[in-house]
Amino acid sequence: MNSILIQKVNLEGSDVDVLIQGNRISRIAPSIDFRADRIISGRNRTIIPGLVNMHTHAAMTLMRGVAEDMPLSRWLEFIWKIENDLDDDMIYWGTKLAALEMIKSGTTCFLDQYWREGYAAKACEEVGIRSNNCFVVLDKHDPANAEPIKERCMAAFESSKKWGPLQSFQVACHAPYTVSDDMFQWTSDFARKNNLLLHIHLAETISECLDSVNSYGQTPVEHLESLGVLGPEVIAAHCVWIDGDDIDILSRRKVNVVHNVNSNLKIASGYRFKYDELKQAGVNVCIGTDGAASSNNLDVKEAMKTMALLQKGWRADPKAMPIDEIMDIATVNGAKALRIDAGKVKEGALADVCLVRTDTPAFVPDFNFKSNFIYSSDSSCIDTVIVDGRIVMDERHVEGEEEIMKEAEKTAWKLCKKYL
Ligand SMILES: [Zn+2]
Repeated sequence: MNSILIQKVNLEGSDVDVLIQGNRISRIAPSIDFRADRIISGRNRTIIPGLVNMHTHAAMTLMRGVAEDMPLSRWLEFIWKIENDLDDDMIYWGTKLAALEMIKSGTTCFLDQYWREGYAAKACEEVGIRSNNCFVVLDKHDPANAEPIKERCMAAFESSKKWGPLQSFQVACHAPYTVSDDMFQWTSDFARKNNLLLHIHLAETISECLDSVNSYGQTPVEHLESLGVLGPEVIAAHCVWIDGDDIDILSRRKVNVVHNVNSNLKIASGYRFKYDELKQAGVNVCIGTDGAASSNNLDVKEAMKTMALLQKGWRADPKAMPIDEIMDIATVNGAKALRIDAGKVKEGALADVCLVRTDTPAFVPDFNFKSNFIYSSDSSCIDTVIVDGRIVMDERHVEGEEEIMKEAEKTAWKLCKKYL
């Protein structure tokens, strides 16, 4: 069994040794005497749980910067045109670039909603990041699309059984405005029968909500509730435009909500995310970056800072986002929604951790690590990343990173050139 011993690393204010055996943290103690395969000095390092990015469209890294300053409806039209040209190889390199970017900014696990999920999973396995790759259902309310989508979904689920151990297959319905009621119900049944998660976009823009009220007399949340598709397996991205009744439903159905603050701000879909109300109602709130064509990076650490500042700002209340809570939102809350035993540095948990380098100006003085981590530093403080007990970034170096960037650059030009 592979073993890593991290010596004298700071964990929540104390210096400890952390022993990783196989894919789990096996022991944490003031001093551990063990002949590990690899010994890492924890000097000037603090150990934190790996960050969990709960909403991405990974291969959209290839479209970073192509659709600027557009409202969501126009942005979607433009992006969908480009997406028609995506092939397997593009998904593979785009996802590899995404995985590289996420590891470099401390993400060890993510939930992805994008096309050709098998190629995305292959890319993630090779880079060594833990991923949840969804089969995406998007029938554009056309009944003719239903049967082919069902068949492809079932086939994709079967072939996912050959994926590597770090990759999980899940299902997604893009959004109520792009997916018919029948397909929502079918996908929800499929998820429940096979113990999968159901990832959706929900209540992202005011126009989505107004259209829903006009068509059904219901908000998007109420509409999905009436279809019987909301439950603890649902991970709903955005939820920017929700009212008190919607929050009651999300709470009762134990739906997980993902705030994608940078994307919401950049596309100007809204900024009054009701964190406090959701928290009071007991809803599990997580954080995501959304795709790099809208946010424009996959840096969860940056999103944590924006979320905290924005909550304080729009509420006019500095207590609106306590430091401990934003750390939990980006780690353990995501792990909980994904049903994995990670998000905490503790004995027995999955060894998905980061070492943060603290001998830099942003961490001086060291009065408060979490505050320095969230508000002062940028993600270059992430020094070493371990996923499933394997070192995937060693003192900021990721194996093969030069090739990934070179191939992704070439692939992005091939995909986007005619739209520039
Ligand atoms: Zn999205």
